[in-house]
Amino acid sequence: MKRLTLLVLTISCLYFGCGEEYSDKPQESSRILAEPYPNDSPYTPDSRKLEEFPIAHRPYQSFTSGIRRFGAARGGGSRLHAAADLYSSVGNAVRAVSSGIITDYYYFYSGTYAAVIEHTMANGSKRVVRYGEISGFANGFAVGSRVHGGDTFARIGKLNCCSPMLHFEYFEGTLSGPLTTNAGPFRRRSDLLNPNQLLLRLYDEAGY
Ligand SMILES: [Zn+2]
Repeated sequence: MKRLTLLVLTISCLYFGCGEEYSDKPQESSRILAEPYPNDSPYTPDSRKLEEFPIAHRPYQSFTSGIRRFGAARGGGSRLHAAADLYSSVGNAVRAVSSGIITDYYYFYSGTYAAVIEHTMANGSKRVVRYGEISGFANGFAVGSRVHGGDTFARIGKLNCCSPMLHFEYFEGTLSGPLTTNAGPFRRRSDLLNPNQLLLRLYDEAGY
């Protein structure tokens, strides 16, 4: 039995990696929470956080390094990665980082979809997030729905090409028009932002 457990762990590590710089965290913090509000902290509107990390567990690998990071090479070096990739599992919760309105939803990449939310952050600033590589909406959500920070509005999708992840694209929201363009190194609308500062803060606050 012990040998079997070791084998499963080894295979998991080969497939997902073993946490890179997160490996100093206690093992139990890597458990995956199926829902954002576990039973020991029942949800009430007053206890709701204004902002939340967009997946309900520690990403399986660092989102600030390797091919997952914002600015990593894509398309054989012809463009740069416009998002941070949060490695997860198919069907896991995708959560709104703050309050807002779902404004768009469409086919995105390799068998998955994307939803766009116009957010109002806790400090009052407007931001736009494209949540890419999702399977679809969670029950009760559609284009036009209002979300609160932490709402599970979608699920991680199954990519035909690669490991499942949330592809998190962050825009200042000062421009209008398509988020994907032919311009600039990222091939994105020019109000694209590096999401690392936001994501690292929300990750710290989540305490995974
Ligand atoms: Zn990505």
